Amino acid sequence: MQSDKINLIGFNREELIEELVNKNIITEKEKYRVKQLWHWIYFQGISNFSEMTTFSSEFQNKLSKYYSIDRPLISNHQVSKDGTHKWLLKLSDNNLIEMVFIPEISRGTLCVSSQVGCTLNCKFCFTGTQRLVRNLTSEEVISQLLLARDQLGDWPTNKYRKISNIVFMGMGEPLYNYENAKTAVEIIGDKEGIQLSTKRITLSTSGIVPKILEWGKDVDTRLAISLHAPNDKIRDEIVPINKKYPLKELIQACQDYPRTRNSKRITFEYVMLKGVNDKISDARQLIKLIHGIPAKVNLIPFNPWPNSPYECSDRSQIKKFSDILNNAGYSSPIRKTRGQDIMAACGQLKSDSVKTKRSELKSR
Ligand code: SAH
Ligand code: SF4
Repeated sequence: MQSDKINLIGFNREELIEELVNKNIITEKEKYRVKQLWHWIYFQGISNFSEMTTFSSEFQNKLSKYYSIDRPLISNHQVSKDGTHKWLLKLSDNNLIEMVFIPEISRGTLCVSSQVGCTLNCKFCFTGTQRLVRNLTSEEVISQLLLARDQLGDWPTNKYRKISNIVFMGMGEPLYNYENAKTAVEIIGDKEGIQLSTKRITLSTSGIVPKILEWGKDVDTRLAISLHAPNDKIRDEIVPINKKYPLKELIQACQDYPRTRNSKRITFEYVMLKGVNDKISDARQLIKLIHGIPAKVNLIPFNPWPNSPYECSDRSQIKKFSDILNNAGYSSPIRKTRGQDIMAACGQLKSDSVKTKRSELKSR
């Protein structure tokens, strides 16, 4: 049940102390309670104050009078024949977002959303046909993970963690929701809470150049760049943000990105669109473009959606493209498409059916 109470998910430790002290729930001397509360919320995954057994019932009641630890409501849950899960989640203001879990033999990846919809209009992306409604709060970003763990029985009492990796590859452009994405990563990585190492978190961006460098300095996650084209002509067409931040600037940002423990190699994502960006000459131009950047290139077979304007490149062409990159020393795996039968694959996420016209967006 969602309520009008303040949700404690998404507060960092300092904010949590401030909130509880200001509301006279704890005194200055009782700050240690926040450490315990943190443990219950983020280590044990408890979503009900009455189960916090180290607290007196008086304190439990005080907390539940003002606060909740509610997760978003599940509006729909589908499981693909390949084991991929897709949840449609209803936020407290009734907006809808999607979240996907992809189990593999050696890891399990949770794909989270950062916005309701997206302001960018990448031509091949279903989310791009949906208008941006709003940024998610840090609470809403983190509670996707908490809910997924509830759903999969994945709290530490369980011996093996099902969710080992997180990717910001759901709906939205995370670097346009910078602060909330950053807070979420900090809380997810906290050593006394969820403890998911930031080296297992990947931020994917369509190329918001000034924010890429800021992120690299502020937050130590892996970085994926949705490149998709070897030159400005093609990129302007399929990733329109390229007109604002052209390839020269984007590649420079990748070159300048701090090479920390977690981001030694950048991942370039490249969606394979038949007759658009999949020529042999495109592969060669791509190699020149990313020359000198420690990187791998993920080739993503285009996932179609209703009335999408593109087709996926032929398998043999993708293979040739991959071989050329490999021969030039770039690892270039062809991404296995997962959850396509439930529209959970990359770029197939969409929770709403209307795209606001540009003119309407401008008047907001
Ligand atoms: N907005 C961010 C993160 C979400 S998209 C970004 O663009 O990076 C996650 C990845 O899926 C991106 O690389 C995106 O370009 C890709 N993608 C979008 N639509 C796709 C489609 N129909 N088929 C395959 N990949 C797609
Ligand atoms: Fe937005 Fe990413 Fe889709 Fe482009 S690919 S429209 S940036 S979600």
